[in-house]
Amino acid sequence: MDDQDAATVTESERRETPPEWGDATWTDLADAGLGVVPGGSRGADSNRAADERATRPLGSRVLALLPVGAVEAHGPHLPLVTDVVIARAAAAAALPGLRSLGFHPLLLPPLAYTAAPFAAGFPGTISVRPATFTALLADVAASLEGQGVAALVVVNAHLDPAHLAAIGDGVRAHATRVAGPAHADGSPKPAPGAPPAGDGAMPVVHPDITERRWASRLTDEFRSGACHAGRYETSVVMAAAPELVRDAARQGLAANPASLSRAIRDGAATFEDAGVSDAYCGDPAAATREEGENTVAALAAIVVDAVVERLGAAREGTR
Ligand SMILES: [Zn+2]
Repeated sequence: MDDQDAATVTESERRETPPEWGDATWTDLADAGLGVVPGGSRGADSNRAADERATRPLGSRVLALLPVGAVEAHGPHLPLVTDVVIARAAAAAALPGLRSLGFHPLLLPPLAYTAAPFAAGFPGTISVRPATFTALLADVAASLEGQGVAALVVVNAHLDPAHLAAIGDGVRAHATRVAGPAHADGSPKPAPGAPPAGDGAMPVVHPDITERRWASRLTDEFRSGACHAGRYETSVVMAAAPELVRDAARQGLAANPASLSRAIRDGAATFEDAGVSDAYCGDPAAATREEGENTVAALAAIVVDAVVERLGAAREGTR
């Protein structure tokens, strides 16, 4: 291989940053335009070349997509991580559309631990305080902002009202964050272990699919509110991770028309209150892989449209 070929390989490797944030190296992300604020979290003894690479001016086309779900009972036929599977599939399916707008989208490792009080009466569910999730989301956003990510996109598939409120609180906590105390040279001085202080200027995009304008693009069962581990969610898991579906159990399940959204309006606080006695409602036996593929496409289109609504296309002159 001559020198020119070697240069070509390097260039193509650079273009092929893995779509998974967690699979990338820090140098991949530096090449994508991310850098940490001088005086921020990098140590004084790090080598100079690495320091220069990691402290490039802020500003990038990087969109960080955060799949959000729960560890929560989903009937006798779907796995506890069903919402994580759905969120991840939707986020991954949104990548091509976001790239075509000029962005450089990357999938963050999912957030799986959150408030899940409705399902807390079933083995396997792990429910944490809403404030724990809110603080984590706001800190993740601050850390991304500190390195020049263009926006954080929350792709959420867990619809427990306590969790939806916690997302809203996290987005607001980030947006109202103020810059911390500065060094003499004007650079931020974060507390030990804290993400770099910013001004909350990085947009956090969260299309809440329970809002009518987004829900109207999803299936009849989803809109009915009988949408926990029913036809809607089961179809998506059959499309995205069929090996996780207990199909014999699924085919034997009777439909349960209990509407969670109606029960919540009537004051229900648990699945048991809402008539979701085996941790599912809707009609899982009617689920199909094809419907799941269509739903993933619809969810991805919602993500892309929410980004366009908030950001437009990527700005020229950034990476
Ligand atoms: Zn679910």
